[in-house]
Amino acid sequence: MAKIAINIATGSLQQAEMIVGIDLGTTNSLVAIIHPESRQPVALKEHNSSSLVPSVVHFDEFGNATVGDVAKAYLETDPQNTIFSAKRLMGKSYRDLKENADFFTYKVIDDDTDSLVKVQVGERFYSPIDLSSFILRELKQRAEHILKTPVTRAVITVPAYFNDAQRQATRDAGKLAGLDVLRIVNEPTAASLAYGLGLHKEEEKTIAVYDLGGGTFDISILHISNGIFEVLSTNGDTYLGGDDLDRAIVQYWMQEAGIIQDDLKLNKELAQGLRLRAEEAKKTLSSSDQYETEWNGDRLSISREKFESLILPLVNKTIGCCRNALKDAGLSPDKIDTIVMVGGSTRVPLVKKMVSDFFGKPVNDSVNPDEVVALGAAVQADILAGNNKEFLLLDITPLSLGIETMGGLMDVLIPRNAKIPTKAGRQYTTQKDGQGDMRIAVYQGERDLVKDNRKLAEFSLKGIPAMPAGLPKVEVSFLINADGILMVKAKELRSGVEQEIEVKPQYGLTDAEVEKMLLDSITHAKDDMQSRALVEARTEGEQILDVTEKFIAKNNGLLSKEELTATATAMQALQLALTMEDKNLIHTKIEELNEVTRPFAERAMDAAISGALKGKAIM
Ligand code: ADP
Ligand code: MG
Repeated sequence: MAKIAINIATGSLQQAEMIVGIDLGTTNSLVAIIHPESRQPVALKEHNSSSLVPSVVHFDEFGNATVGDVAKAYLETDPQNTIFSAKRLMGKSYRDLKENADFFTYKVIDDDTDSLVKVQVGERFYSPIDLSSFILRELKQRAEHILKTPVTRAVITVPAYFNDAQRQATRDAGKLAGLDVLRIVNEPTAASLAYGLGLHKEEEKTIAVYDLGGGTFDISILHISNGIFEVLSTNGDTYLGGDDLDRAIVQYWMQEAGIIQDDLKLNKELAQGLRLRAEEAKKTLSSSDQYETEWNGDRLSISREKFESLILPLVNKTIGCCRNALKDAGLSPDKIDTIVMVGGSTRVPLVKKMVSDFFGKPVNDSVNPDEVVALGAAVQADILAGNNKEFLLLDITPLSLGIETMGGLMDVLIPRNAKIPTKAGRQYTTQKDGQGDMRIAVYQGERDLVKDNRKLAEFSLKGIPAMPAGLPKVEVSFLINADGILMVKAKELRSGVEQEIEVKPQYGLTDAEVEKMLLDSITHAKDDMQSRALVEARTEGEQILDVTEKFIAKNNGLLSKEELTATATAMQALQLALTMEDKNLIHTKIEELNEVTRPFAERAMDAAISGALKGKAIM
């Protein structure tokens, strides 16, 4: 897999291209890699600067974008053209945001519909995907500058509560930024990986990941065994984070100094200045007891004690979410082995104290909470790159992979929990005489009927030369490489025609969704067995009707009028049974039809017919 490239400018050998881990945060974003020598995850940063890139995009009058600290400085001086918290907009409509519209100091288009939001800057309109892509492009360029090698492949993290549309939007943003997004990883899973949790086979643990960032709160209960992360429950609040702590301080100061809300609304520059000072106050109070500043001619101050009393209801709200998450997981606080703290806001001493009090044990905060998610994404990226051999063995297919066969049945080629890389193949044949195309539909899931599973891809093998049904030999093969990418190939062996397709098996599936699909398959196991039996009976019935019809067309002269009538009646009865949901009835009618036709089948025992009677089409 290792690639070696020559730098054309310098003529020197470039390092093998790495897969980077990216934490695309609401407030801050950053890139991390596994250091090639130390084999430890490190956050990338320029000399003497922070690894954090504020997730802020500023547009100048020509529409040129700048990202990061430079853009953040414009929050105060040019709020209309400076976009922060774009992640909050991902996959959202204006209606979703309505209540919080005041929060945005830039123009979010209010079309009062359910369509996805856009942001207007001057004459231009940007989707949240566009905005995120600006941030990702900046991260990519920084990484390339620091690593002196192209960066084109990445693992990007998203909150556990992100739905499919939001995950897809994140992928699209990556693509727009020129990144091949190999995997979307849940932030809590990444944070656990950064603490080395789940990297040892024998380890079995229940973990709570408490993530209080700038804009969101997320609590996840995970169970790890055999290196597999299982999400037991998630809870949280998409509108609760460090920003709210800032707002609590802003409101306190407005009261104290008699600042009028309307004045702030009219002067967004002044409002942003106040907001930034509140954030500074909050951060200072994580390590000191008192904060003082000047703003618009006023002296503003706040003590740690006052701050804690202001934010107590907010922190209590997060504890309520923790309680709900535990309830959903069916666990009591003492069943949690490890508590992992994530997000800059977990630096607030009151937060640490209340979380640790609730779970009844000290929290894990040794890894920098701003970087922990990106560091874990780098660990995941390294596993995908195949550098972590021990773990590679543990990388498995979370769900079975197979194709649709006759009657909508799932035919599994690679079972769930198969080790990656892996391959499998099986032969199929045509259903109809002269059939020139064969449809291959690829599914993922544990249910017996494909309609209950998740469709990953579909393609047609075209140009199969005309042959009687059952004669073509179509080999379908599945191959999953170390990156988890599935290649599906279909080849007709007699003629050599073939067709190939690439599928990303985990595309858009969260751990929780995988979990749900597995649970469904267990809950429905009995139903599935019954419906599989029904489908099989129907398929058999249809084949027998088909064969009988062909037989009669060919051998009309051999049968008496009575025999023809009896056959027609038995066929009709079977036809009717096929429309009902009763496999036993179908079997009875098949048997009855066989009774009628057996004597003349024996009479006309020529090779071709017996062949046709025995031949079974699989597809
Ligand atoms: P996100 O995941 O939303 O991008 P981060 O994890 O980067 O957010 O956290 C950003 C939040 O952390 C901001 O609200 C910031 O003010 C807060 N924060 C950073 N450092 C501190 C600190 N020392 N004390 C309190 N809050 C902090
Ligand atoms: Mg975060």
